[in-house]
Amino acid sequence: MPDNDGAGSGKTLNFVRMGTRSSAFEKQQAQKVADAKKRRAIQDRQVQIAKRNPQQAMMKTARLGGKKTHATVILGFKHKKDSTIEHFMTCELIDHVDELILQMMCPRCVFSHGVSPDEAQMKLHQKNRKWEFVPGKLPWWANDNPIWVNPEDPREVLTIPGTINMAEWGYCPLCKWKFTIDDATIRTD
Ligand SMILES: [Zn+2]
Repeated sequence: MPDNDGAGSGKTLNFVRMGTRSSAFEKQQAQKVADAKKRRAIQDRQVQIAKRNPQQAMMKTARLGGKKTHATVILGFKHKKDSTIEHFMTCELIDHVDELILQMMCPRCVFSHGVSPDEAQMKLHQKNRKWEFVPGKLPWWANDNPIWVNPEDPREVLTIPGTINMAEWGYCPLCKWKFTIDDATIRTD
């Protein structure tokens, strides 16, 4: 080793350390970029499959549904200032003996009060609240496409089973959030 003397050795050691750290960091960054590219490619492919081959997407949805005796309905949250959908929420439509139950999460409990999504579930019994499920009718925001791809997670692909209309206001039993549903679109006052 040419720098067996004090200062030189320290310099070399320092250089080696930095070099090692920097190459590990670069490798990590490269790996992150590669992973993100791979994920994006998978998502793009799934969105394309869903759009071009609704049958396959529907089969996938049916398989994912498994033994469940309920359907997943999708509700949109309208943007306050324009007529676009800002967010979507999936809810369970439970076929319970002689009535349907719409089980949905209260977004205010979860996002404003920090309640866990499990505890923020509301059950809207068809007997108690005037709401209807119209099977096969696509909500306006579906644009005639029965396949819904979650814009926030394109791996989630569902067949839209129908639309929901509510004839009166509903309230969250915990936080009193007031809402109604018009063509699978949530409105607050
Ligand atoms: Zn609530």
